[in-house]
Amino acid sequence: MRKAIYAGSFDPLTNGHVDILKRGLEIFDQVILAIANNPNKKHFFDVKERIALAHQATQGLEHVVIDTFDGLLVDYAKTKNATALLRGLRAPSDFEYEFQLAMMNRRLAPQLETTFLMTGEEYFYLSSRLIKEVASFGGDVEHMVPQAVYKALQVRFGGGQT
Ligand code: ADP
Repeated sequence: MRKAIYAGSFDPLTNGHVDILKRGLEIFDQVILAIANNPNKKHFFDVKERIALAHQATQGLEHVVIDTFDGLLVDYAKTKNATALLRGLRAPSDFEYEFQLAMMNRRLAPQLETTFLMTGEEYFYLSSRLIKEVASFGGDVEHMVPQAVYKALQVRFGGGQT
């Protein structure tokens, strides 16, 4: 069974994340969407909210498991018997950081392969940070995030009712 871990903050999940997840499901038998739960990092949506949103956004997708992790990703991957880490690439600016991270993870766990998938062109400009910024000023992000995330952002920023 080819199991991959797609780890990130997903704060919040965007259509870019979902795109990478779906592409990953074409390659792997199972993808674990692993939501980072770092108590030292300030998140906009807490881990429970991010888990709930991920469940709603992936409804109907088979072979996806939603989970959280803290500590070293390679250790978590080992406990899950995963063979690969899945990462998404957007603009070239992602590359440097992702390259460093992949090399470090390879050093820590040589048998765990990092797999990069290129985002769809309609998503390459999407980031969780930008989504939050635009939503905070009342910009329309409806078609950039899953519906559940859109509603949660509306509630947070007082832009509407659910
Ligand atoms: P992090 O906390 O590592 O920044 P994110 O939740 O922002 O995590 O992203 C997790 C992974 O998804 C990363 O590999 C990131 O490059 C990728 N990603 C984020 N947004 C997109 C997008 N729009 N298209 C493709 N990949 C993306």
